[in-house]
Amino acid sequence: MIFKYDGQSIVLVSEVAEYINISNIIIEDCDGDKVLFLESKGNPSVSRCEACSISDGLPIKFCSIACKFKIYSINLTEKSK
Ligand SMILES: [Zn+2]
Repeated sequence: MIFKYDGQSIVLVSEVAEYINISNIIIEDCDGDKVLFLESKGNPSVSRCEACSISDGLPIKFCSIACKFKIYSINLTEKSK
């Protein structure tokens, strides 16, 4: 089930964790529920997201599910060269 929070689409961690690998995606707290953003929040200055901004040696973190899989598809393309 997808919820709207602050204009963004979010999903509950408990509902998606069994379907996808959510490691390295930043988990937010929404009214006591652990949630993930489906798409980029588009604010790299607060997200420290590998997909949204260039991080500086920080551990790889993604601000949303979309960001994580965008990065992964890029990596796959580079490996196939
Ligand atoms: Zn991001």
